[in-house]
Amino acid sequence: MSKTNTVLEQQNIYMQKVKALVGELYGQPKACVNTFGCQQNVSDSEHIKGMLETMGYVITEDPTDADFVLFNTCAVREHAQDRVYGNIGTTKQLKKSRSNMIIAVCGCMAQQQYVADRIKNSYPYVDILFGTHVTHKLPEFLYKRLNGSPRIFDISTDNNEIIEGIPVHRDKSVKGWLPIMYGCNNFCTYCVVPYVRGRERSRTSAEIINEAKLMIESGIHDITLLGQNVNSYGKGLSEDINFAGLLRKLNDLPGDFRLRFMTSHPKDCTKELLDTMAECEKVAHHLHLPVQCGNDRVLKEMNRHYDRETYLSLIEYAKEKMPDIALTSDIIVGFPGETYEEFCDTLSLIKQVKYNSLFTFIYSPRPGTPAAEMPDNISREEKGRWFNELLEAQDVIGRVKEKELDGKTYRVLCEEVSEDGLHILGRTNGTAVIEFEGDTSLIGSFVDVKVNIVNNVLKGAMIKEK
Ligand code: SAH
Ligand code: SF4
Repeated sequence: MSKTNTVLEQQNIYMQKVKALVGELYGQPKACVNTFGCQQNVSDSEHIKGMLETMGYVITEDPTDADFVLFNTCAVREHAQDRVYGNIGTTKQLKKSRSNMIIAVCGCMAQQQYVADRIKNSYPYVDILFGTHVTHKLPEFLYKRLNGSPRIFDISTDNNEIIEGIPVHRDKSVKGWLPIMYGCNNFCTYCVVPYVRGRERSRTSAEIINEAKLMIESGIHDITLLGQNVNSYGKGLSEDINFAGLLRKLNDLPGDFRLRFMTSHPKDCTKELLDTMAECEKVAHHLHLPVQCGNDRVLKEMNRHYDRETYLSLIEYAKEKMPDIALTSDIIVGFPGETYEEFCDTLSLIKQVKYNSLFTFIYSPRPGTPAAEMPDNISREEKGRWFNELLEAQDVIGRVKEKELDGKTYRVLCEEVSEDGLHILGRTNGTAVIEFEGDTSLIGSFVDVKVNIVNNVLKGAMIKEK
């Protein structure tokens, strides 16, 4: 038996033991999982919920009603971490009224020693803290703590193996996350991810294809492949495969579905990948290619391994191959040492590319990263002004991009019902979400919708089949 199977077997035994125990203790146990941060965390939480359900818990959104409350945390920016501390703090009162309640913290923030120490010392009501390398051991931690073990703190990193076969509870029925690799080797100088997620490791194509098939069979029509840098998929596997090859294999699966992926690092984004996107009919024409900034000196300081010109030539190539491509990016404003003139290069880049939308961040120093040691003379207020300038520029670009959709017909996947309950929200092959009249029976199907922009909102009307 492989090491992975043995690990899973052990946890399966713990799951059955916890199930028996919590049934006696709580009757019908309930668990609340709070997720912060990126899609990788959302996907991890889906596996955590899968394990909890196997252990007999019912998943609830309401922490006041839960016997087990977990915080799956993000460490990418300080603000994200502060929010988590605030949220953990609120459980102190809850626990006073429910003495059997178990509180746990996991994810990227928990993986950092200084955070684990702070939680150990200042949040005595947290029962369990575990890092990103031992998520699959939740059943064991829970069983031990429920049996009176002292508080559990495990941020060990010796397990770099991917544990397959963890049960999964998918949050959405129409679209789903499919991790293809974990970790990151890039060490961008501002980023904490390589420290908290470990080195890159890929799942085998057989495991990924198997999971994709199950997702499609269960009615999922929009699959997003996840990894910190999907373009380095396959490195270190015994099979000879790269990301473009994986996309082709998935594209060949039967069924009516779309494939998306994130994140693609520009330094490893190849023409082969863009050709593959253009040629595979199930791959959505959406490329999230985070540029971070538009100035070569700053890009170098960030350790990004590409320059403005190379990035722009990739974008040009993508537009040439897929004229309808939707482009999105991440931008950091105010990297240490960045000047206003250098920031203006980012402004000119976004105007040149014309992104559909941007994820924008003010630089946040992360302890332990090289950038946190770099001199930074620009005040937070000044960075805030640059940030607003960026948002305003993107707002104009985004509106122009949206206007291009007006009057045209798009095939959309009906994803959910709007807040007023009267409309359906359908996503195009790109990133646009169109609101149109329809009923819930449409959810999960593809329909044609003609766009009609009203007061800057993307509305539309379904084209009925004749
Ligand atoms: N692997 C992905 C990004 C993961 S983190 C990639 O390389 O594109 C998501 C985004 O958070 C990053 O793209 C970056 O824009 C932002 N980010 C990461 N560290 C940050 C920091 N210290 N301060 C501000 N933004 C940061
Ligand atoms: Fe962070 Fe860079 Fe890795 Fe993305 S590629 S996770 S930004 S270190």
